[in-house]
Amino acid sequence: MNAAANKDSSQFRVLIPEDRLQARVSELGEQIRRDFGDRPITCICVLKGSFIFTADLVRAVGGAIETEFLGVSSYHGGTQTSGVVQITKDLTTTIEDKDVIVIEDIIDTGLTMHYLMEMLAVRKPRSLSVCTLLDKPANREVEMVADYVGFSIPDEFVVGYGLDLGERYRNLPHIAVYTP
Ligand code: 5GP
Repeated sequence: MNAAANKDSSQFRVLIPEDRLQARVSELGEQIRRDFGDRPITCICVLKGSFIFTADLVRAVGGAIETEFLGVSSYHGGTQTSGVVQITKDLTTTIEDKDVIVIEDIIDTGLTMHYLMEMLAVRKPRSLSVCTLLDKPANREVEMVADYVGFSIPDEFVVGYGLDLGERYRNLPHIAVYTP
């Protein structure tokens, strides 16, 4: 636990340590580059939770990459999903005819990604894939299978490596389970 979480450390348990995270991100990057060959890839970082994952992943993929940011708000500071997806920042470029990968921190109910896929598909990308660092398949409310998954985890609330609780703990270098 780093300084940001020290005073609450009794509420946190490390689930995925930093070295395992980094090793898996490298593997995902290599797999993605293999799948797309030399083609340019447009990576869409879903804010805010995937900003750290995206920063590491685009470097692990290498080659020709454009990075775009999409602001999405689905939780409102607590540990329960609201089911409401709000776009807080749209893309700054067209994705028509591009190979697009949406980079998400975690897929839980699947509602956010389901909404985003529908929203992006109408913009006619050449291909549209999903890469999520974490997957909580036990909690799905709509079908959603990501093309690239870092880790499948149990139905617990996690923080760190970009994921927050009330805007805190994004700076932890590992993934930790939070128990209220
Ligand atoms: P879904 O719409 O799939 O239920 O949830 C997707 C979003 O909910 C994620 O992008 C993330 O922002 C948030 N979320 C879901 N599970 C967790 C979790 O365990 N921890 C944190 N910090 N956010 C979560």
